[in-house]
Amino acid sequence: ATPVAVMVGLGSAARKGVLVRDAAALEALGQATDLAFDKTGTITEGRPRLRRVLATSGLADADLLRLAASLERDSEHPIARGLVTAHAGALKPVSAFRAHPGGGVSGEIDGHAWRLGSAAFLGVAFPEVDEDGIAVGLADASGLKGVFVLGDRLRAESPAVAGQLRQQGLRLHLFTGDRAEPAAKMAEAVGIESVAAGLRPEGKLARIRELQAQGAVVGFVGDGVNDAPALAQADCGIAMGSGAGEQGTGAAMAAAPLVLLRPGLEPILAARRLALRTHRVIR
Ligand code: ADP
Ligand code: MG
Repeated sequence: ATPVAVMVGLGSAARKGVLVRDAAALEALGQATDLAFDKTGTITEGRPRLRRVLATSGLADADLLRLAASLERDSEHPIARGLVTAHAGALKPVSAFRAHPGGGVSGEIDGHAWRLGSAAFLGVAFPEVDEDGIAVGLADASGLKGVFVLGDRLRAESPAVAGQLRQQGLRLHLFTGDRAEPAAKMAEAVGIESVAAGLRPEGKLARIRELQAQGAVVGFVGDGVNDAPALAQADCGIAMGSGAGEQGTGAAMAAAPLVLLRPGLEPILAARRLALRTHRVIR
């Protein structure tokens, strides 16, 4: 790569909303055959709002929500912000807090241990939730106490951006820690043909390795701590920056050679154009 060509590319990338830390990754985006997306916070706005509380064992809705919001206070996950925002009153002090990327959080309140997260993380089945949305449960050692249903909106431009990327011949994938059913619905709405749901952070990484082993050049777009391993494994890791709609965690940004500085997925199209142009100039 000639430094001049790279510098031209990088300067206009920044103006188009893409921070390029590694010119080789930008070049890889130009050669990409596959582009995989995280769901929550990437394809969606990442601002889930609480729709419903389902008490499953006698605790009042307000108490369930206070426990959940307290447990989530120090989590960077969009679900955490949705729960904290939905709770109006004071939070309870939490000790032994732990975030479990791709699963949930745990901690103790008044000496009582709680876990909050996906059904898989809790090892329990949730009651039928007859609406799509994100469902997370609150449980203690005796079992499930309640389920919170949150709704997150698709980013308005996601289908159009996906459509353009598909037209450029890229194979698109959705890699998510969420359940299969809402993930499939979302993929269909966006126009993404391949879906892998219920993935832990290492699962996203493994999927990328599989594609690479088949000869694919893979870009991955993600926003969360749970996405850091995949962002590092991809030929081109693209993180949503903190300007990109309030999500975008430090871990994701540190792991990615490209960072989107504006809300939404549109800067990816600009980055692709630049990558293709930079590549031509270099060769
Ligand atoms: P995505 O891949 O869609 O961004 P994640 O991998 O971050 O999703 O999370 C997968 C699932 O784990 C979420 O759908 C949720 O059920 C659960 N989860 C992860 N982090 C949290 C958290 N902080 N609070 C509650 N649930 C969480
Ligand atoms: Mg995410």
